[in-house]
Amino acid sequence: MAALDDLLALQALDTRIDQLEHQLSTLPVRAEIDGATARRAGAASAAESVRARLAELRATQEHLESQAAEFEQKAAAADAALYDGSVTAHKDLEALQHEIAGFRQRQANYEDQVLGVMEEVEPVEAELADAEHVVSEIDAALATLEERLRVEAGDVVAELEGVRAERDAAVAGVPEDLLAEYTPLRARLGGTAVARLSGARCEGCFMEIPSAQLEQVRRLPAETVATCPECGRMLVR
Ligand SMILES: [Zn+2]
Repeated sequence: MAALDDLLALQALDTRIDQLEHQLSTLPVRAEIDGATARRAGAASAAESVRARLAELRATQEHLESQAAEFEQKAAAADAALYDGSVTAHKDLEALQHEIAGFRQRQANYEDQVLGVMEEVEPVEAELADAEHVVSEIDAALATLEERLRVEAGDVVAELEGVRAERDAAVAGVPEDLLAEYTPLRARLGGTAVARLSGARCEGCFMEIPSAQLEQVRRLPAETVATCPECGRMLVR
């Protein structure tokens, strides 16, 4: 039955399409991309936590600097009062000088603390630069891998398009009723719906068909579709 031979040819094309689609979705470079993507997420979150620590230190530094500036202004204002003639009593002048010394002392304390924080900032900045470098290295590796995927997938996609075009041509020659049987059977039986009968063996399930059933199969009219009693596939005799 020629229609069944056409169906067998269609089956071969569908099997090839299945293989190519599987190949496309399981290209080894995809696993490498997944690995690099996971490493990037880890590196980015490490960099983020260093960045947060640095931001905290800088906020502390700014706070201390503004405190130092505040006492510097207070000292300067009191200093001006010392010489503008508004304070004349010896006792008051002494108190003012004492106050200025207090402001200067507090300013100096804050400035010392600023220096301490700046010393802490330095190694954290270096740490952040390292962490960001790791991220950008992974980004570069990912870009290379994505390019490899594009090239490798491109070859498979090109072949797939060719086979799909062949399939479109092949399916046009297969009668509707055979397709109606073939399509769901193929979905149900893992991709293979029709197989050649080779001697007593079904090439779909590779089982020998018992002789009594084989006789029945052979006696069927040529236009009747026989099915394998073992796997249920359509048999091409
Ligand atoms: Zn079978």
